[in-house]
Amino acid sequence: MKKSQKIVIVGAGPVGNYLGQLLKHFGFDPLILEEHPEVGKPVSCAGIVGKDVFSDTLLAPSKATILNTIDGAKVSFNGSAFLLKRPQVAYIIDRSAFDKELSKGLKIEFNTRFLSVEKSGPGYRLKTTNGDYYADILIGADGPNSKVRKLLDFSHNIKLYKGLQYRVRWEVADRDRVEVSYIKPFSLFTWLIPEANGIVRIGTICDKPLAELEKFMKERNITGEIVEKNAGPIPIGTCQLVKDNAALVGDAACQIKPITSGGIFYGMKSAEILANCIKEEKLAEYEKNWNTEFGQEIKLCLLARNILENMSDDGLKKVFEYVKDNTSVIEKVGDFENHSSIFWSLAANPRTYSTIGNVIYEVIKKPQILFRLFRKK
Ligand SMILES: Cc1cc2nc3c(=O)[nH]c(=O)nc-3n(C[C@H](O)[C@H](O)[C@H](O)COP(=O)(O)OP(=O)(O)OC[C@H]3O[C@@H](n4cnc5c(N)ncnc54)[C@H](O)[C@@H]3O)c2cc1C
Repeated sequence: MKKSQKIVIVGAGPVGNYLGQLLKHFGFDPLILEEHPEVGKPVSCAGIVGKDVFSDTLLAPSKATILNTIDGAKVSFNGSAFLLKRPQVAYIIDRSAFDKELSKGLKIEFNTRFLSVEKSGPGYRLKTTNGDYYADILIGADGPNSKVRKLLDFSHNIKLYKGLQYRVRWEVADRDRVEVSYIKPFSLFTWLIPEANGIVRIGTICDKPLAELEKFMKERNITGEIVEKNAGPIPIGTCQLVKDNAALVGDAACQIKPITSGGIFYGMKSAEILANCIKEEKLAEYEKNWNTEFGQEIKLCLLARNILENMSDDGLKKVFEYVKDNTSVIEKVGDFENHSSIFWSLAANPRTYSTIGNVIYEVIKKPQILFRLFRKK
């Protein structure tokens, strides 16, 4: 046995690092195994986070990695568009620097790829490219394609979506506004995010990301130099969170917002729930506690996503136009992290009823939308 540790976290992404900081704060001495030679690279992220990341977290990260502040969005679909004005709703971060910031002072073994695991007494024996490790508690924070999830056979119902982004040398007139161009409202989309330093991030989540980005840039005549390409999968769905003395967190556990695919804030808040359970020596309660906090929100947003992804173009146009007519509601009640608040507010408006009627009609036409969603994890 090369080393013996009580808590081993696989993955030094933002969530693994944040969990590491929380555990250290609670007096533990976690070890993080990371396959890459440094934290924060390669980047696969658009780097837009709600302000809560810096104000509603137990150990708030430094704001030094913020590049730009966002006051709203231009949202478009099928030639129709609207503006959402929401002052200081989000920040654009330097994602690589953000991850590095979260990793400060942590014990991380780099160039150490987790390969396999077997049960050993109360804990686990891990094989890595850097020798064997023993963990009393094993945490998989190893991202969307989690090997911990796979090898320990955590049950799940996850679909991996394709994400691709270019950082392009390009100036935009509105540096404080992002653009969201829907391919399918409100699930598959292309974005343009100004870093406010002469670079924009142009990215997409869709079935054919390369073709989509080329089309988007051509349509807008964006001809600047591509200075960086970022790509990665986005896991949407549900996942078992704890099994014996092992747990998953972050993208490994599919703790991601189903409508916007943002995972940093949910992953960090989930790490807080997990760290508290470890502190209280009640790891088994992690899943229950997580469901209390996020279960309803995720289920409702997954249901909405499933319906919208399967709707006809005609149905989607009606839903988009309805949202466009109600931007003031979104501006008033919209929450960057909690999207169900928008559904409830729109649903409370009697003018919604014909749009809801359309949605119900689409679901009746394709009942498999619901079956897929409620398939066992
Ligand atoms: C194109 C794109 C754009 C996105 N944009 C946003 C956004 O704007 N805002 C937002 O909030 N979220 C966004 N996300 C999602 C966000 O990037 C993730 O939710 C977030 O990175 C999850 O953090 P994590 O620590 O759980 O996983 P990861 O960031 O994936 O980190 C996992 C870590 O584990 C390591 N690892 C994996 N396997 C092993 C192994 N076998 N052994 C050792 N180490 C291993 C990896 O190297 C990595 O360092 C985006 C995702 C994509 C793909």
